[in-house]
Amino acid sequence: DDACQDDYFIGYGDLSVHELMLKDRPRTQAYRKFIEDNLHLLKDKIVMDVGAGTGILSLFAASAGAKKVLAVEASSVARLCQEIVQENNLNHIIEVIHGTVETISLPSDIRQVDVIISEWMGFYLLHESMLDSVIVARDRFLAPGGVMLPSHASLLFAPVDMSDHFQNRADEWSNIYGFDFSPVASQINMEEVTKPLITSLNPNVLCADPQEIINLNLKTVTAQDIQTISTVLKFPMRQDSKVFGFAAWFNVEFNPDCDAASKSHVTLTHESADSRDVHDAGDGCLLKDPYVSLHSVEKSSQEAPATISSVLLKTGPHDLPTHWKQTVVFLPRTILVQGGVDLCCRVRMSQSSSNKRHYNITVTLVDESDDDDGETSDASDDST
Ligand code: SAH
Repeated sequence: DDACQDDYFIGYGDLSVHELMLKDRPRTQAYRKFIEDNLHLLKDKIVMDVGAGTGILSLFAASAGAKKVLAVEASSVARLCQEIVQENNLNHIIEVIHGTVETISLPSDIRQVDVIISEWMGFYLLHESMLDSVIVARDRFLAPGGVMLPSHASLLFAPVDMSDHFQNRADEWSNIYGFDFSPVASQINMEEVTKPLITSLNPNVLCADPQEIINLNLKTVTAQDIQTISTVLKFPMRQDSKVFGFAAWFNVEFNPDCDAASKSHVTLTHESADSRDVHDAGDGCLLKDPYVSLHSVEKSSQEAPATISSVLLKTGPHDLPTHWKQTVVFLPRTILVQGGVDLCCRVRMSQSSSNKRHYNITVTLVDESDDDDGETSDASDDST
C-alpha cells in the first residue's frame, strides 16, 4: 500500500509516539471506562478500530466480548500490534489489517461493521486531519444504525492573558552569570508568537469562559464540514485583561445511541447547575453542552432497553493533563480589554492547500456592530 509510505505514517512508525499515548491515562482510560461501562454495546459485535496503533482499543473491545475486531493500521507499528494480539491470545478475535482505511478491503466473510472506535484527535482536535479517514471508514464500512466511538467532539476557544509566561522568561534571562541577557528573551518571544504554542496552561490565564468553535456529531459530520470552519464568538470578559491570544482545546464524548434516543425518554443529569441549554439537534437527539459532565446520563428506550453510561474526555486547562495540552495562537500585539466588555472575534480554520493535515487558523477581532475591523492573527501551523 503506497499510501503507507506517507511521511505521516512514517511518523507513527516511531514507537515513542505510541508510548506517549498509552501512558496518557485520561485519554486511554476514557476509552476503557466507556467500554467497561457499556459492555452490551460491544458484546458479539463486529468492531473496526480505525488507526489501531499498538492495538490497545482493539484489546479493550475484544475483552468486552466483541465477536470480531478489525484492527486497521497503516504504519509499520501494525506488525507490533499483530505480535501483541498474539501475545495476549486474541488472534481468534482481533484481525490486524495493515493498510489505510481508504484502501483496505474487508475480510470476505464480513460486509459491514457494527461499531467504529478510533482515537483520531490531534492538537486543537483537528490537527493531522485524521477525522477525514474516520469519516471515510464510517461511510465505507459502518452498518446503518451502527455506533461511532467517540460519538461527539467539540473544539473550544478562550482568550488568554500570558503575562506570567513572558514574565517568567524575562526573569530567567535577566541574570545570566550576572549579565543581562534580555535580548535573548525578546528574540525567543518574537519567534514563539509567530506560530501556535502547545503548552499546559494554568486555568488562571483564561480571561473568559470558553466558547465552542464547532460541535461535531460523528455519525453525521462530513469532510466538507471540517475543511473550512468559520464562526464568530463572543467572550464576556471577567475582568480587565491583557489578551495575548486565544487557547484552543477539545472535548470528546462517548454518548452514542441517538437513534434509540429519538424513540425514547431521555433523562439528563447535570453536574453543574448553570443554565447552559439542552437543545434538540433537530433529529430528536438531545445534545448537551459538553462542559457539563455527563458521567451519569441515563437513557431508557423501548427499542434499546439497555442503558448508556456516557463518558466525557476533556482536555482543557481545568482538566487532568493530557499529551494534547492546549494550543495557543497569538495576536500580533496584546490588547487591553475591560472587564464586563464582550470580546468578539471571528475564527476561521481551514485545511491548508499544501498539506491538508495542517490547518490555517485566523482570528479576527470584530466589533459587535462592525464585522471587519481589528487585528488579524494568522497562525499557520505548517511548521508543526
Ligand atoms: N488507537 C491507538 C493509536 C492512535 S494514534 C491508540 O489509541 O493508542 C492514530 C493511529 O492511526 C496511528 O497509528 C496512525 O498510523 C493510524 N492511522 C491514521 N490514519 C490512518 C488511516 N487512514 N488508515 C489506517 N491507519 C491510520
